Amino acid sequence: MILIFRHGVQQPEIDAVLDRLGSLGVKAHVTRGAERIVLTLEGEEDILRAAQLEALAGVERLVATQKPYKLASRDYRPEKTELRLGRLKLGAKRIVVMAGPCSVESRAQCFEIGDAVAKAGATVFRGGAFKPRTSPYSFQGLGQEGLEILAEVRERTGLLIITEVMDTRDVELVARYADIIQIGARNVQNFSLLNEVGRGQVPVFVKRGMMTTITEFLMSAEYVMSNGNESVILCERGIRTFDTTLRNTLDLAAVPVLQSLTHLPVIVDPSHGVGDWRYVVPMARAGVAAGADGLMIEVHNSPATAFSDGVQSLLPERFADGMGEIRKVARAVGRTV
Ligand code: PEP
Ligand code: MN
Repeated sequence: MILIFRHGVQQPEIDAVLDRLGSLGVKAHVTRGAERIVLTLEGEEDILRAAQLEALAGVERLVATQKPYKLASRDYRPEKTELRLGRLKLGAKRIVVMAGPCSVESRAQCFEIGDAVAKAGATVFRGGAFKPRTSPYSFQGLGQEGLEILAEVRERTGLLIITEVMDTRDVELVARYADIIQIGARNVQNFSLLNEVGRGQVPVFVKRGMMTTITEFLMSAEYVMSNGNESVILCERGIRTFDTTLRNTLDLAAVPVLQSLTHLPVIVDPSHGVGDWRYVVPMARAGVAAGADGLMIEVHNSPATAFSDGVQSLLPERFADGMGEIRKVARAVGRTV
């Protein structure tokens, strides 16, 4: 069960509710969001209903949910969340396209790619300054210097910035630069990291892990939200299956399933989903057709010399052509780009 307090509820009213719950032996987790204070309750519905909590001062309503994820569920918020990001809205009719290189490599590289993707219609620039690499000997990212380049791209193009954080110690730093913080597939169950970004205010983009079920994925969103940050965006980026033809198996069924289970915006990343630039645009089209609220696409001006993920990166011209195709599919399913 979830108990939602009225706007402007006072601390003595919250304390009175907590006392009442304490006397019933019900454990309550308090979430202090930017907009709302919410209690997540561990207790039987009939006992909680009988306690008439809704009659107490400051209480707006009691919501029943059988789901392990509460704040991420449609029970908590039946209508879709439209997340405001500057002048953009995520989860609305317009599909948000996030594009850019896998890694921030240099100012010149990011300026060239940033200019090209902005011209083609992307509204968010992606680029990793902290890179989760399989090998410790591979390029690990430019760190703060990379974040500064991203801020310059934002200044220059007007694109919003999304970038990954891998370490709790870097959350504050990354939050100073990013419009959206990315939690990568490998950190989807790094609960300390989820708690840390959940204590902040910057929207959090959580990528599905390669071995993560949909329920586990939603529980990761719940970690962030239960700390007070309700601005969460989910991203399907492919999972590992028996088929090794492609880098991953892009689970597009996850899109309508997530859309039915959660109110949070759902994004598709076809680049990591397939791992080969030739299949990126077809799967981007399919993602939009499946009902995604946005796309994340890797674009590089020189894929052959990219520091990471060159094989799956589109050249800027191919990205621009792809945007034309994505636009047509969006129109066919009642969306815009
Ligand atoms: C990325 O976005 O470059 C990335 C590392 O993605 P993922 O965490 O999905 O592998
Ligand atoms: Mn990548």
